[in-house]
Amino acid sequence: MTDQSPDRHTEPRIAVVTGAARGIGRQAAVALARQGIRIAGIDIAGPVSPVLDYPPATAHDLAHTGDLVRQAGGRWLSVEADQRDIDAIRAAADRIEHEFGGVDIVFANAGIQAFKPLLEMDDADWHDQIDVNLNGTANVLRIFAPLLVRRGAGRIIVTSSTQGQHGTLNGSAYSASKWALIGLVKSAALELGPHGITVNALIPGLIDTPLTRHEDRYAQAISNAGGQPDGDPHRDEVTAEQLLTTKSPLGVPWIEPADVAPVVVFLASEDARMVSGASFAVTAGDSATITA
Ligand code: NAD
Repeated sequence: MTDQSPDRHTEPRIAVVTGAARGIGRQAAVALARQGIRIAGIDIAGPVSPVLDYPPATAHDLAHTGDLVRQAGGRWLSVEADQRDIDAIRAAADRIEHEFGGVDIVFANAGIQAFKPLLEMDDADWHDQIDVNLNGTANVLRIFAPLLVRRGAGRIIVTSSTQGQHGTLNGSAYSASKWALIGLVKSAALELGPHGITVNALIPGLIDTPLTRHEDRYAQAISNAGGQPDGDPHRDEVTAEQLLTTKSPLGVPWIEPADVAPVVVFLASEDARMVSGASFAVTAGDSATITA
């Protein structure tokens, strides 16, 4: 019987992480760096859309991720780019390839979220989430996949959401964008498998990041539970926390982004070489009530 275990990489591997300035992207970047992986962190590091109810990430946030990656022993390259702009992503790929010599892992994670009933939407309420979450992520895959193909191997991990597995009250644009990403992942897994590349979806539950910690999100959680938001951010935060804790099988209102990162590390690893076209959830038990 032949030994079919893969050759372990002797060179440090290289990961591209989008949405690296904060939240899930930052913690994944640090966790990957702990594995000796070099990190190219891409982020818009500035305002994304006027429809958002939470502050944008900053250049300082992105630089701070770089500090944390270096403290974790990793090499770091910072790239400010808007993933809606495919030419900017192409330029980022050229720069990363020039500086690091190639790419082995893509964590396509950047995204935005806003809430608005379909009946009240302006054009931007629909288009901005579709453009960033779906078209922007597709840009990242279309530009970076050829670099992985050149390596003859690779890992692609795309951040979807539980809201890409069920309908979301007042969140149709986000749900549609995240559901579409699962279709993108499964299709890319079919096309890139013959090149030795795995493609999987990460399904975070409710994670404690700026994307979730604001009045619109508290109001949505309260409405979703059949309640009436108060309109006061502090009182609605307290109410949402109680409702979310009661609803969570593991009894947590929000999951720490560092608790999501180990799944990214696994999917990026050699050990995950036979895992592709699948979805991996970190939801503190919310997955138990989702049939997708
Ligand atoms: P976050 O806002 O803290 O981080 C998102 C990062 O993406 C920010 O740094 C932002 O600047 C960047 N970004 C946004 N638009 C960009 C663009 N056009 N180009 C480049 N960078 C851009 O939020 P997070 O919670 O860490 O979200 C990360 C991913 O996880 C998103 O795709 C989000 O939809 C998804 N997600 C989050 C949760 C949650 O509960 N926080 C749940 C499920 C899925």
